Amino acid sequence: AKKYVLVIRSEGFPKSSDFKLVEETLPELKENEYLAEAVFLSVDPYMRAYMPSLEPNTTMIGSQVAKIVESKNPDFPVGKYVVGGFGLRSHTIATAETKSELGFNTFLLPHFNNLPLSLALGVLGMPGNTAYFGLLELCQPKPEDTVVVSAAAGAVGSIVGQIAKIKGCTVIGIAGSNEKGKWLTEELGFDYFINYKTQNVEEELRKAAPKGVDCYFDNVGGDISVTVINQMKPFGRVAICGDISSYNATEPAKIISPIRSILFNELKVQGFRVSSWNERWLEGIHKNLRWIIDGKLKYRETITEGFDNIFKAFTEMLQGGNIGKASVKV
Ligand code: NDP
Repeated sequence: AKKYVLVIRSEGFPKSSDFKLVEETLPELKENEYLAEAVFLSVDPYMRAYMPSLEPNTTMIGSQVAKIVESKNPDFPVGKYVVGGFGLRSHTIATAETKSELGFNTFLLPHFNNLPLSLALGVLGMPGNTAYFGLLELCQPKPEDTVVVSAAAGAVGSIVGQIAKIKGCTVIGIAGSNEKGKWLTEELGFDYFINYKTQNVEEELRKAAPKGVDCYFDNVGGDISVTVINQMKPFGRVAICGDISSYNATEPAKIISPIRSILFNELKVQGFRVSSWNERWLEGIHKNLRWIIDGKLKYRETITEGFDNIFKAFTEMLQGGNIGKASVKV
């Protein structure tokens, strides 16, 4: 068995020397335990966000789809698959009670209509549910609303925009390459795309949403978010989902506070953690699955091959190298 250990708490952009690949020998299974072998490992921005709070020399956090290869628990039989926050490890001994560091339950993979198992880490898993609950419950989009989503071509953002389209909204996606923009507008049905790396977001947003923005699903924080919040309509809703622009920063961002826009436009701004929707978890997954089967929801994955390439997959995702969900096939 192999696992990645976080050697030190990283400052700035993660370095390969922050992690160490360690071989381990696992003990025999006890009653109620099962042994799971990783098949797909997820690389997610939250892994970077939580690195400063992890103790040095602990197994790096992360979730995976794993196959049960040995079992002393009849509820977790050999041959079935589980989704678990086991960390970046090839083999895990778990029980029905095993939870991830972030409090996620481990569960048997629901029936996926022969769709790829890897989707349990993306549109049919945590990112899909982040999009589903964050957009529908916090932003409460109505038909005719104008919805803006940042990190729009990523795991969460690409689903947010499509659910907003399903709800009849005009959707503006902000992301970091024209290739991403082409996918969003030509294949996913987004109405507008803004490349924050090459275009002036403030000006482009004014053209795309001349009357202002009703809902903003914020995946990035920083300047982009201040710009969008300053162009919201009265009573607009903002779901604060992520702050990836700050995760690798060594100094606090110098931004002009958007409080005045929030005050004068009476905006509703709410942060959320998808783990708080644990009790409705399967609702989100089944709804997204239904939309996929009905051809209303498309997905894309950027899959890196090989357990030993996890660091590469992780850092490429942090730099925008992924379209759709980034993960690793073991
Ligand atoms: P993505 O698949 O969107 O991958 C991250 C993307 O972020 C990159 O592809 C890159 O795309 C973009 N990015 C990186 N750096 C910056 C930057 N400085 N400014 C703007 N964009 C940047 O990841 P996820 O969909 O998994 O996550 C998206 C966000 O949602 C993250 O902030 C994450 O922490 C958050 N999240 C929050 C959850 C919650 O419970 N609140 C749950 C899950 C995710 P580009 O080419 O466009 O730059």
